Amino acid sequence: MLTAETAAAWLHAFAEKINENKAYLSELDSAIGDGDHGSNLARGVQAMEEKLQAGGLETVQDVLKTAAMALIGKVGGASGPLYGSALIAMAKQAGEDEKDVASIVKAGLDGIQKRGKAEKGEKTMVDVWVPVCEALKSGALTKEVIQNAVDGTKEMKATKGRASYLGERSVGHLDPGAVSSGYLFEALLEGGIL
Ligand code: ADP
Ligand code: MG
Ligand code: MG
Repeated sequence: MLTAETAAAWLHAFAEKINENKAYLSELDSAIGDGDHGSNLARGVQAMEEKLQAGGLETVQDVLKTAAMALIGKVGGASGPLYGSALIAMAKQAGEDEKDVASIVKAGLDGIQKRGKAEKGEKTMVDVWVPVCEALKSGALTKEVIQNAVDGTKEMKATKGRASYLGERSVGHLDPGAVSSGYLFEALLEGGIL
């Protein structure tokens, strides 16, 4: 069940995965971007952890909103405002019904798309959020669903974000934001929330 405690634990597990894979995420971004995705997110999750550990957060909405503000303030690049928009929209939805994880994550996807205008198939984090939302709705989110979504970005041609400058040369590389979003949902799965 999603509570202020499990939401904070989810984000903490996400932060750990980002820190463990910081170099890998930046390496992926070096191939099709500017090589900063790991360091951008590591900076953001450190700020997020500091805010979350300060305590005093009583609702899921408080936790998600606090995380959003920390990420927006520190991540920069394209991914900072996108993850920030996702978490703000998720916080708002959690204010409506904090038990409905599928609706909360769907609100996050809508926030990302409102901000970044990417559709499925454009080789971005949206290519992970869309199948994850569908799986959450039918109660069937698994590690395989997440992994297949992440891997699926490899053969796509980027048409949004910095990787789109490469055109056809973006094909054959995983999208770094899809990989980091994969970590977010692995952390959700492992967190015993669903
Ligand atoms: P920057 O490209 O500014 O250096 P990052 O490297 O931190 O920012 O983030 C890059 C990631 O952001 C990409 O791998 C992609 O998943 C995501 N991204 C970029 N543009 C968009 C967009 N319009 N919609 C969704 N995701 C996007
Ligand atoms: Mg980058
Ligand atoms: Mg950058």
